[in-house]
Amino acid sequence: MSILQLKPQLPMNTDSGTGAALQKEDALPERRVKILLVDDQPENLTALEAVLESLDQELVKANSGLEALRQLLEHDFAAILLDVKMPDMDGLECAAMIRQRERSRDTPIIFLTAYRSDEQVYKGYYLGAVDYLQKPIVPEVLRSKVAVFVELKRKNDLLRQKNIELQQTIAERLKAEDAVRRLNAELEQRVMLRTQELSRSNDELRQFAYVASHDLQEPLRTVGSYAQLLAKRYQGKLGEDADDFIRYIVDGVYRMHVLLNDMLAYSRVTDTNGRPMAPADCEMILKTAIMNLEASIKENEAEITHAPLPTLVADDVQLTQLFQNLIGNGIKYRSTETPKIHVTAQRGDGEWTFGVRDNGIGIDPKYRERIFGIFKRLHGKELPGTGMGLAICKKIVERHGGRIWVDGAPGEGSTFWFTLPA
Ligand code: ADP
Repeated sequence: MSILQLKPQLPMNTDSGTGAALQKEDALPERRVKILLVDDQPENLTALEAVLESLDQELVKANSGLEALRQLLEHDFAAILLDVKMPDMDGLECAAMIRQRERSRDTPIIFLTAYRSDEQVYKGYYLGAVDYLQKPIVPEVLRSKVAVFVELKRKNDLLRQKNIELQQTIAERLKAEDAVRRLNAELEQRVMLRTQELSRSNDELRQFAYVASHDLQEPLRTVGSYAQLLAKRYQGKLGEDADDFIRYIVDGVYRMHVLLNDMLAYSRVTDTNGRPMAPADCEMILKTAIMNLEASIKENEAEITHAPLPTLVADDVQLTQLFQNLIGNGIKYRSTETPKIHVTAQRGDGEWTFGVRDNGIGIDPKYRERIFGIFKRLHGKELPGTGMGLAICKKIVERHGGRIWVDGAPGEGSTFWFTLPA
C-alpha cells in the first residue's frame, strides 16, 4: 500500500506558516539543501519524492538503513525521513547509528511509521527523532514539516558562512594589527637608534663648539694684544690708511671675541659642570640680572618693574642669563620712548608662564621663529650683536623643560613669553 493512500489532501496555503517562511528564502543564498528519504519500498520513496518535489530541494533516496548511513557519510542533510519498519536494519537502529556520528548528530529525523506504539515513540524520541508521521502520510503536513527543516538548514548554513567570514575578518584584522605593531616596534627601534646617533653627534658638536670657541680665544688674544700695541706705538706714524687698518683689526678682534664668548655660553647651556637644579627665587634672580645690566639701564634711563615672581627649582645661573638677555634686548631694541620693561609670572597647569614685555621697536611677526636660531639677527652694525642671545635663551628654557615664544608687532613693543615647570 502506498504511504499516500486513503488520507484526503489538505488545501495548500502558501501565505502563512511554512509557505511564508519559504518565500523568505529569497533572502537566503540560492543553494539547495539535501533531504534524505529512507524506505525499503521503492514506491514509497517515489511517493515521498512526489510530495516534496515542489520544495525544489535535492532529494536523496536510500532503500535501506545501510545505504542511508553511507549517504550520511558523504553529505549533510537538512532532514532525514526514516521509515521505521525496514528489513536488516530498522529505522530505530539506523537512527541510533546516525546519532553516534559527529556529522549527523544533530540532523533532524522524522520517523515514518504505520504502527505507532507508545514504546516505539518513546524509543524514537530517545534516539533523537524530532517528529513522527503516521502512514498514510498527509502530503501537506509532510511538506510543511520538511519545509521548516529546509529553511532551518539554510539559515544554519548562512549563519555558519557568516561565522566563517567573521572569523576571516577577525583573523585579517588581527594580522593587520600585528603588522602595525611590528611596524611600530621597528619604527621605535629606528627612532631610538636615530636618537642615539643624534645625541652622539650632538655631543660631538657641542664638544667641537666648546673646544673651538675656547681654543680660538688664545690666538685671538695674541692678535688683539699686538694690534693694540701697534695702535699705541705707531698711531699717526704710518699714515691715515694704516691707522684705519689697525682700527679695523682691533674692532674685528673684539667682535670675534664676543662671538666666541657667546658660542661658548651656548655650548655650555647643557654642559652645567654638575651644577644641580635647586629652588631658585626668581625675584632675587631678576635683581641680579638687573644689577648686571646696570650700566645699560642707567645709560638708557630704563625702568624695569615686575609682578610677584615665584620660587622654582631651576639653574639660577642660567635663569639670570635668561632674564639678562631678554631685558638687555628690551633696552637694546628700544624705540624713541624711555624703555619700560615689565616682568610677570602666571601660574598655569603644572607650569609658570613668564612674560618680559617691552615698549621697544617690536618684531615683524614673520621673524618670530627665526630670531631664536643661532646667529640670526634682524639688525646690522647700527645695533651690534652676535645673534646668539635668544638662541641661548631658547636652549636654557628647553633645558628646563619649557617653551619660549614672542608676540607683539613693529611699533607696539614685544613680549617674550617662556614657561618653566612648576
Ligand atoms: P642680538 O641681539 O645679538 O642680535 P638676539 O638673539 O638676542 O641677538 O636677537 C636676535 C634678533 O632678534 C635681534 O637681532 C633683533 O633684531 C631681534 N630682537 C631681539 N629682542 C628684541 C626685542 N626685545 N625687540 C625687538 N627686536 C628684538
